[in-house]
Order: sequence, then structure tokens, then C-alpha cells
Amino acid sequence: MHTLSVKEMSEKLRNKEITSVALTQHYLDRIDQYDGDLNAYVTVTPELAMEMAKQADDMIAEGKGGLLTGIPVAHKDIFCTLDVKTTCGSKMLDNFIAPYDAKVVEESRKLGMPILGKTNMDEFAMGSSSESSYYGATKNPWDLKAVPGGSSGGSAAVIAAGLAPLATGSDTGGSIRQPASFCGITGIKPTYGAVSRYGMIAYASSFDQGGPMTRSAEESAWMLDVMAGFDERDSTSLEQPKQDYVSTLNNDIKGLKVGVPAEYFEAGLDEGVESNIRAAIAELEKLGAEIVEVSLPNKELAVPAYYVLAPAEASSNLSRFDGVRYGYRCENPTDLNDLYTRSRSEGFGAEVKRRIMVGAYALSAGYYDAYYLKAQKLRRMVRDDFVKAFEQCDVIVGPVAPTPAFNIGEKSDDPVSMYLADLYTIPVNLAGMPAMSVPAGFSNGRPVGLHLVGPYHSEAKLLNVAHQYQQVTNWHQQMPESYQ
Ligand code: GLN
Repeated sequence: MHTLSVKEMSEKLRNKEITSVALTQHYLDRIDQYDGDLNAYVTVTPELAMEMAKQADDMIAEGKGGLLTGIPVAHKDIFCTLDVKTTCGSKMLDNFIAPYDAKVVEESRKLGMPILGKTNMDEFAMGSSSESSYYGATKNPWDLKAVPGGSSGGSAAVIAAGLAPLATGSDTGGSIRQPASFCGITGIKPTYGAVSRYGMIAYASSFDQGGPMTRSAEESAWMLDVMAGFDERDSTSLEQPKQDYVSTLNNDIKGLKVGVPAEYFEAGLDEGVESNIRAAIAELEKLGAEIVEVSLPNKELAVPAYYVLAPAEASSNLSRFDGVRYGYRCENPTDLNDLYTRSRSEGFGAEVKRRIMVGAYALSAGYYDAYYLKAQKLRRMVRDDFVKAFEQCDVIVGPVAPTPAFNIGEKSDDPVSMYLADLYTIPVNLAGMPAMSVPAGFSNGRPVGLHLVGPYHSEAKLLNVAHQYQQVTNWHQQMPESYQ
């Protein structure tokens, strides 16, 4: 059953050829069988899943719900889930049972999508490899020696290995797209504000954006339709009518202007990645797209600006974890100061502490102008590059990451080289624009993702382009041999 597309599952559910109970049980069995090695789930929720599956079958029998009713889903452990442990990959929240649902979870629940569990991630979404989780590293189903990418590595791995048909992720600097690329699946980071952040544990609020992680673009369109929409509980939620992501999937892309930035193909780009990306561009050309050269001259400024701004926001957001109200509390504190200090020192991992310190420094009096304010100006320049480029083209294409998945341990002691792995994805978060990763081949046996970036509110167009590409390629349908 796990080799069916979500569309086929949906049809079979509605034709009564399968039940949601059977489908959900099938995934729970696979999780039992395979997740020991992969470590892609932090929490599996079999009882909740089966109870929801029964309700979904009832909804279907009564002709209620939608296309995804009865299809199980895995949520990244950054989304609060009512009565379910929600850890954000941290010891700090190891004892935290969420008292409410994130908007994204609430919507999937309303629709009757059984929740299989919560997926592993870098602690507080800070990372590019899913190695910084308190629950240990997630492995890449294509090669257990490799990282699955991060921070949504658990969600990417469960889709790649067939341990869930649909998953959610979040992307602050690349955390949907880079793991999607490393695991050979499809993922979309929507325009900032398109998906509510309500109940999504905050890392860097002006960048954080939830989105779907699936096998195909069509499935991402269906899932985004569930996730997106205005929510008054998120003050930066976009107040505008929801796009129709699905009905335009089959539009042809003749005449589409595809921008290729010269700066994307510079030194440091893996040869195998480059040749796959060039082949994908040629494929788009065959579909009738017109290739134009564009320029993103300030691309190099993005990573340094991000690593001032994101930690600054994180240092403020993470101040709520103080050992007082919820989460980890140290034993036998001697006074209030000791309670704060030890709870935070013992509850947070090394990368999180590094970022809190960097962020607090950048925001401190005397340094604010030199770092934070300067970085905000760079952010504007990076955004303006995209706005200018989109005067000449409809979408920009290139690699998601400079290399395919690296090995576990390879970069874990070298934060700067880990940070540089996000040089293609981070600029898009600075601009707040939508972008996708679409499977486009393999380099040394490890998947390669094609990056599609669009102007604000162009999700439907990106999904359309990706879907058309997936009509003439089958990279997205391939599964690692041991999980077929
Ligand atoms: N790898 C980037 C970081 O560590 C992006 C993470 C993310 O998108 N959550 O901040």
C-alpha cells in the first residue's frame, strides 16, 4: 500500500477498496519494522492513529471530509499536538505534553487524517543534518551512513522510506527543502505568512514557515491546501484568499520564463549535483520553458546576515524556557537564579546554546547597530535582488544544496561548514518568498534536489512547474531498495 500515490489511496478509500484502519495499520507496522534503524520518529502514536482511522472510515462512509480524509500523516515534532508529547528535538521539552493543537495539526485533524506520530528534528530546528536532536541522529534511508538533512530530517526520512504518506515540516533557512533534497522527496516552503505559525514552536519568527513534505508535487499541493490559510492567532498570517493549488497543476508551462542565476554555478558545487540540475533545466526547456540568465549579486551576504538575525530572534524566543512554567527543571535549585541557569544549561544542547549566545550578543547595547541593524540592511539587499530578478523571469531554478547528503559526523564539529550547506536556501527565507525542492537525480547514489524559487504568492505556479516536470521524470517515484 505504501507504494501507492496519495491520489490512488484516496480513490481506493472512497471506492471502499481499502479502509483507513487498514492503511494506518500498514504504516504503523512499517514503522515498527524500520524505524529502529532510521530513528525518524521521536514519538509514535498508534492508539491515536487507530482511533482517528476509525473515525475517518465513518466520515468516508457518510460522504464527509475531503480528498485526504483517512490518509495518515506524520507531524514534525515542532508542531504542538494536543495530549501528545511535543519535544522540538530537545531535552528541554522531553516532558512536555502539548495542551493544544498547532493550526496545522488542527486542520489535519478536522479533515480526519490519522496522526502516526511526531518526527525527529534538529534541536529547536537549528541545524542542517538532524544530528543535534536530543533523541539521536536520524539516518538517511538511501544510505544509513548519510544524514537525512535538517532540520526536518525525520519528516523527509519517513516519506522516503514509506513510513508515512504525508508529512509536515518547517523551514527557517532551508529545513524543508534541504532534507527533501537529501532524501529524494518533494517539499515546499510557502510564502512567509501563508501557513499559520500558531502552535509551531518558534525558532526565528520572521523566517519560520511550515509546509508539506511529500513524494510528489501533486501531493504537496493537496497537503498545502490543508495547511495554508489565514489564522487570526498568528499576527503575521497573510490576510488574503487562499490560492487554489490543485486545479492549475496540469497547466502547460510553454513560455514560462525560467531564470538561471550565474552565481548558482560557482566553485564548491558538486559535479554530480551540477549535471543533474543542468539536465533538469534542459527538461524544463523541452516542456516549452524559455531559459533566461539572471543575477543575484548579493547571494553571499545571505548566510552571514541570517546567522546574526536568526540567532537574535532565537535568543529572544527561547527565553521562555526558564524551568518555571513548563519543560525541563533542574533538580534542587538553591535560588531563582540557580533554577534559571541550571535548567537552561542542562536542558539545551550545544548548538542551541551557541545560538542563544550569538543572538544575545548581537542584540546587546553597543553591538546592536554593528550587527543586528547591519544584518537587517543586508536582508533587504538580498530580497531586492530577487524582486529585480523576477522582473525578468517567472521562476528561478538551481540546486537546493551544493552537495548531496554528507555523512553522519562529517560536519558536526564544524558549525561554519554546516552553515554554508544552506547557501542556496537561506536567501529565499530572507526574502520571504516561496520555494520548492523537487527530486532531480542522484550523485554517487544519493538524491539531488532541484530548487524552484518564485515571487511572493506563486506557490500554485511552483507546484504547477514541479508537477509538469514530474510528468516527464520519475525521480520522485524512486524508493530506496531496502524500503520498497
Ligand atoms: N540550517 C539552518 C539553521 O540551522 C536552517 C534551519 C531551519 O530552516 N530550521 O538555522
